[in-house]
Amino acid sequence: MNIVYNVQIGLRISMPINKLVEKAKKLLESHRVEPLDYGIFNVVGDHGTYTVVQDYSGKVSCNCIGFLKYKKCSHATAVIILTASQGKRSHVRKPRRTARAERK
Ligand SMILES: [Zn+2]
Repeated sequence: MNIVYNVQIGLRISMPINKLVEKAKKLLESHRVEPLDYGIFNVVGDHGTYTVVQDYSGKVSCNCIGFLKYKKCSHATAVIILTASQGKRSHVRKPRRTARAERK
């Protein structure tokens, strides 16, 4: 699924993705990720509250500095984890295989 695909893109970026995931999990554990509307999440970070938006394809964006710089942040990652865990097929880890499902 697209959500998993985004996580894999993250792996190619030379950023400590594990740290991001760790931080994202902490945000989730402390219930600092609050769904506002469909695809819109309020994330209370250490330095402020950010808005993470997820589009129809599962792509997320955040309005924090980190995301602007690196296209990746713990807030967006938290939303990816959250929505992936809510998805029925969160165990699917190979995006190429799911591409078949998008065929018309
Ligand atoms: Zn952010």
